[in-house]
Amino acid sequence: MRIWQAAVALWLLVVPPLAAQTFPEDADFYVNDYADILTDAQEDDLAAVLEELFQARDIEFTVLTIPRMADYGHTGSIENFATALFNTWGIGDADRNDGLLLLVSRFDRELRIEVGAGYGDTLNAPMKRVIDNKITPYFRLDDYAKGIRFGVDEVIYEVTNRYPGEYDNSGPAQLWANFKRFLVNLGWWLLAPFAAVMPFAVKLFRRFQRNKPRICPNDGNRMRRYLEETEDGSLSAGQLAEERLESVDYDVWYCDRCEHVTIEAYRKWFSRYGACRECGFRTVEGDSRTIRSATYSSTGLRETDYNCHHCNAHYTVQKTIPKKTRSSSSSSGGRGGGSSSGGGASGSW
Ligand SMILES: [Zn+2]
Ligand SMILES: [Zn+2]
Repeated sequence: MRIWQAAVALWLLVVPPLAAQTFPEDADFYVNDYADILTDAQEDDLAAVLEELFQARDIEFTVLTIPRMADYGHTGSIENFATALFNTWGIGDADRNDGLLLLVSRFDRELRIEVGAGYGDTLNAPMKRVIDNKITPYFRLDDYAKGIRFGVDEVIYEVTNRYPGEYDNSGPAQLWANFKRFLVNLGWWLLAPFAAVMPFAVKLFRRFQRNKPRICPNDGNRMRRYLEETEDGSLSAGQLAEERLESVDYDVWYCDRCEHVTIEAYRKWFSRYGACRECGFRTVEGDSRTIRSATYSSTGLRETDYNCHHCNAHYTVQKTIPKKTRSSSSSSGGRGGGSSSGGGASGSW
């Protein structure tokens, strides 16, 4: 046995085969059939029903089938797996916690309907009835599509008092929801042209402000503005450097009568020059590099060398890069961020 073979054997002995628990990818908002027990047409049919529920009642209901929980490193109960998955995906509205999950683990022959924390335990008994009366009888006949479809219909009925296709669109709640949607859409349409002309309006206003005549504070005389070529005598070397680098534009106003001078600075919005730590003028250029990248567990470090084009100062500044954070929207695929406290019911066949 060579030394590396001994090392591998020893490593296998001391490191137990620990598989970390993962979760199936939240690829589709309504139906993820990883156990492959539904045809494409059946998936579409199911998705249409779930989408209708989402549109009519704003309730997020998702169906997930997997081959077996062990594929995701899970060895415990389906209850624990379903609750953890529900909260990882963030099913349902985050405030109402009204999400619904139908999870089928095909070769474990177990299923669970997990409900959002907002329902409390009010749905536990109804969900158990749905599983025992509507789903598992079909699953025992290997008719997964029918069991899932009938089960979904019954869950929707328990939650909304309506079957798919029978949502009451004249109820006050629905009317109010439609009216709110109408107002929101109207608001955006009214705002759109306004938002489009806004930058031009701001620009015109700024130009007007910049060009309107100034009044001398000493004698009330109308001041005049020097032309670019003649204003140089009034500006300092630093200000001239800023004008040369185009980081700041200066206007010099003067009074004919008392020789009062006013200098006004206009900073360029997009300039690569910043304010120099030594001389204060916006004449410093930075060159940054990442010393250490930030991770989810530790901060990073960025170093910037500064060179001033006016006072010739050189200095280096180090800056901490904040830790990376996982945004809830990126990990939950556009879901509402709802959670479950373990409510629902399970069954096997
Ligand atoms: Zn004056
Ligand atoms: Zn400087």
